[in-house]
Parts: sequence; structure tokens; C-alpha cells
Amino acid sequence: MNKPVPQPGIMEIDLYVGGASGAPGSNVVKLSSNENPFGPSEAAVKAAGVAAHQMHRYPEIDGYSLRVALADKYGLEADNIILGVGSDEILQMICNAYAGPGDEVIYTQHGFAMYRICALGAGATPVEVPECERVTDVDAILAAVTDATRIVFIANPNNPTSTMIGLAEVTRLADSLPPHVVLVLDGAYAEFVEEYDGGAELARTRPNVIMTRTFSKLYGLGGLRVGWGYAQRDVIDVLNRLRAPFNISTIALEAAKAALADTAHIDKSLAENARLRVWLSEALAAIGVQSDASMTNFILARFHDQEEAEACNEYLKAQGLIVRPVSSYNLPHCLRITVGDEPSCRRVAHAIGAFKAGARA
Ligand SMILES: *Cc1c(COP(=O)(O)O)cnc(C)c1O
Repeated sequence: MNKPVPQPGIMEIDLYVGGASGAPGSNVVKLSSNENPFGPSEAAVKAAGVAAHQMHRYPEIDGYSLRVALADKYGLEADNIILGVGSDEILQMICNAYAGPGDEVIYTQHGFAMYRICALGAGATPVEVPECERVTDVDAILAAVTDATRIVFIANPNNPTSTMIGLAEVTRLADSLPPHVVLVLDGAYAEFVEEYDGGAELARTRPNVIMTRTFSKLYGLGGLRVGWGYAQRDVIDVLNRLRAPFNISTIALEAAKAALADTAHIDKSLAENARLRVWLSEALAAIGVQSDASMTNFILARFHDQEEAEACNEYLKAQGLIVRPVSSYNLPHCLRITVGDEPSCRRVAHAIGAFKAGARA
């Protein structure tokens, strides 16, 4: 060996591809990363500005004040919460803590890309299981479990499918897994579902269940990188050994606390999203583009085939509308479209209509 060689598995990782953006200041509408179309809470922006004056100081070592705020808001215990640089970092800590060479990490056919990346990063073997018509299939997951299985990841609701399974099915999955297998319930979009706790109660009562959540979607703080995990104390103790001290900056902590408290901004974001995701999906259905009922802040638009989806993507791009191709998620005939504000939704529906009319002519 005449040069450094990375650990096995590392070179099998395909770099994560984020949603594309337009040039800053351009009249481009970005509907590719499931961001909040109304931006961050003004209170969060203000809190970040105030905190900026303290940037010569180290932040809280473990983000205690934000963990307390989360515990108050969601009815949880602050000591059972861990903060991450985005929930992505929590997913990574989980893989590094619980899986290694020879171990298997299960995720679903259209599951979030970070599950495979984190599994390979830990030297473990990724195992992809089928979904049933773009919905998580609990029986398929259970059928894939072997003695080597260490972790099962599901996003509920899932990205990029926008579908979810009910709490009864999630509970059946939790109860049917061998006790040594960690079940990760990725709740990045849980806030968009009424009457759903993201799996918090399961994580509170089961020693092998971890819930992950994020400030990047509903709360509009993707640029600050704040996510969190919730599990029983033993699991949090394990993950904390891998967590970099001071991982969340003071600016991020203060902005996140303010965002949590800004119920007016949250309520408006939720109400507009709920209204416009139905509007967008119906507008597209009327022009022959189907999508599953969305439980999230995006819809997955299905085209006839890959060729049509790619052509539509190019057409939208030329109109300054950026959506997300999802061929890397085994959905080459689909485009994922974030539910924007009303003008953006109207623009994208109109443009897809024009594309379809032109394609038929
Ligand atoms: C966006 C997203 C995340 C992670 O977001 P962070 O910005 O790292 O908190 C995790 N899981 C799913 C399914 C997502 O869509």
C-alpha cells in the first residue's frame, strides 16, 4: 500500500445530492428541498441576531436549554433527548454506535438516502427491502431481519414518497423485532401529521426504539442544522459518547428555542401547507399527473415514465422552477415537489399543465 486506504464500504457511498438551488437573487422558485416557503420565524431571526454577539463564547456543551424547551413543548424528558447537527448527525451516531462490519442495516426501497450512507460509513451492510405501492411494508421488513440485523430505519411519513403507516403498524413493527434490533423512527415530517406523536410514546416505552426529529422542515431552520433524538436514557447515554461536545452553536440553540415558541408562524405554516398540498395534488390530477395523498410538505408527482419525468424536469427548470428528480430513490418516473406558497404552487401547476399540453400536441 503506497497511499492511505479508506475503511471498507466508504468508497461505495454515493455522495448525498441535495435539492438544486438557483443563483442567489434570481427569480427562481426552489421547490426541491422541502423547506418552509414562509421562511424562518421572525422571532428566530431576531434571537439569532442577539445571540450573534456571544459568538466568542462556547455554546452550552449539550444544548440543555433547548432540550428543556423541547421536553416542555412535546411532553418529554429533557434527559432523554439528544441534539444533533441536523437529524442527519443523529442517524450517523446511531449507525456508528450500533452497527459495524458484518452487521446489517435495513431500510426501505424508497427510504431516505442517509440511511445507506450512514450504514456504509459505519462499515455495516445496507439491506434494502421492498415497499408496497410506495408505502412502508412492515411484513417485508420483518422478513428481511436476520441474526446480523442491528438497525431498522423507517421515515414515517417517508421522504420522498410522502406516505405513512399508522401507529398500529409502527407498533406491530416495534413489537415484532428482536429486542437487540434498534428501530429508528425518523419523524422529520411528523409535525405535518395531525394527532401523531412521531413515535414518541413508543420511544418512551421501548428500550430499542429511537425517534428522530428536525428543525429543518416545518420550523424553517435547515440552514442552522438542528435535529434531535428521543429514546430511553441508556440509548441516549450511548449516543452521547459519540456526540461532539458543543455540537450545536449558540445561534442555532437560540433560534431553535424561538422557533419552537412562535406558534403563530407554526400554525400559519401548517394551515397553508395542508390547504395547498391538496390544491396542488388536485390541480395536477386534473391534468393527468397522479400523486399519493401527502402527509408531508411535498408531493410525489408520478409521470408515465422516466423520459416524461426528465423532460418535465427540464421544462420546469427552464421556467425557473426547481423540483427534485428522485431516480436515486428508485422512482425514476417521479418528481418530488415541495408545497410552496400559493403563487409558487400555482406557477408549478400551470407550468406542468403547459408541459403536458405541449407534450400531447
Ligand atoms: C430532511 C430529512 C432529514 C434530515 O434533516 P436534517 O436537516 O439533517 O435535520 C431526515 N430524514 C428525512 C426523511 C428527511 O427528509
